Amino acid sequence: MQTKYLLGENQIPTHWYNIIPDMPGALAPVIHPGTNQPVTPNDLLPLFPMGLIEQEVSQERWIKIPDEVREIYRIWRPSPLFRAHRLEKALGTPAKIYYKYEGVSPAGSHKPNTAIPQAYYNKIAGTKRIATETGAGQWGSSMALAAKMFGLECTVYMVKVSFTQKPYRKSMMQLWGAEVIASPSDRTNAGRAILAKDPANQGSLGIAISEAVEDAATHEDTRYALGSVLNHVCTHQTVIGLEAKEQLKLAGDYPDVVIGCHGGGSNFAGIAFPFLADKAAGKAVRVLAVEPTSCPTLTKGVYAFDYGDTGKMAPIVRMYTLGHDFMPPGIHAGGLRYHGASPLVSQLVHAGLVEARAVGQLACFEAAVQFARTEAIIPAPESSHAIRGAIDEALRAKEEGKERTILFNLSGHGHVDMAAYDAYFSGQLEDFEYPAEKVKESLAHLPKVSF
Ligand SMILES: *Cc1c(COP(=O)(O)O)cnc(C)c1O
Repeated sequence: MQTKYLLGENQIPTHWYNIIPDMPGALAPVIHPGTNQPVTPNDLLPLFPMGLIEQEVSQERWIKIPDEVREIYRIWRPSPLFRAHRLEKALGTPAKIYYKYEGVSPAGSHKPNTAIPQAYYNKIAGTKRIATETGAGQWGSSMALAAKMFGLECTVYMVKVSFTQKPYRKSMMQLWGAEVIASPSDRTNAGRAILAKDPANQGSLGIAISEAVEDAATHEDTRYALGSVLNHVCTHQTVIGLEAKEQLKLAGDYPDVVIGCHGGGSNFAGIAFPFLADKAAGKAVRVLAVEPTSCPTLTKGVYAFDYGDTGKMAPIVRMYTLGHDFMPPGIHAGGLRYHGASPLVSQLVHAGLVEARAVGQLACFEAAVQFARTEAIIPAPESSHAIRGAIDEALRAKEEGKERTILFNLSGHGHVDMAAYDAYFSGQLEDFEYPAEKVKESLAHLPKVSF
């Protein structure tokens, strides 16, 4: 029984798939938070290199992957596609389950797929240093790695509570040469203002974003980098789905349903967008995004213009949102605690082309443990949401007595998240109800935009 489907290095995709020309309808404008007018490329130049700004709005369906980027992709790409024979057997399902495994990257997740090209486009634009933020450290470690590959300096503002409680990804960033700063810090006006009011502040992703953006905006040689949400990030991640399609051809299969976990939307976009191209061409394929019930952006949020960050410094975009000042409960899947969602994924959900489902964290850990005990790989808590979605689809197929081919993205491994598993096994984890009252409050603060 063939278990893994591998491609050679020469089969790394030559182009990323850009879904923008295939979107159902025009893109909503991106609004400047200061002027309330649509942003121009010039507004973005202090933050991003032109190569990435162009990709953000490109109408080209296929964007060439620079040779320098493909050379580094060779370190771990193409990533393997597995058939989950042992999980299928344990579930007693007639469904076939395939998963694409992105935990083989050096940082342990899909995030280097975009960190590498972001560092590259900065390098050729003359950037000397990248400033970015990180929560638990998945993005920061990916950016530190990418910056080192292209000889750039890297400053990472890491949410203070993670800086002290989750030391190992900090160690990875430092090993790859980045400077890691606990946020809020005294490096920026944003950080100093918060520390002046509350010296014991433990930080948040919103504050760390504000610090990194300010750092980039106030230093000529420094640019900012974001690990999810933006169009160009989703485009870079499509190497996942493009490879998966070729690997499924080797298996002689095509999925009935494609599943990814959803935080800001990038790994979901990566696995799903290439299949949505087929769907637009008439192929019958369902596409499902799975998010946590504690931060249910796609299933309970509103489709509206909102700030990308808590500090109201990031652009205003049209997306599903729970409100920019919504603070989700502290679940262990830190990468899924974002109040908004990728504008591209949001528009696709709104158009009915993508389904969304919310699942509780206990059900996700249960799925992750079942997965680790059958398929052997220890999943990241974020990825466990996709596993839950896939197992539920497989159990439904069993109930209905139907064959079904399921593909999901295993976005990362959980080796640096073992404290979360310890908490699960010692009964310290709880399920959070949907925080309806808090969401109602934060949704009352959406900006007024007249576009
Ligand atoms: C960051 C992260 C996510 C969530 O981010 P998306 O942009 O929604 O993909 C999911 N899985 C892993 C392993 C991550 O590190």
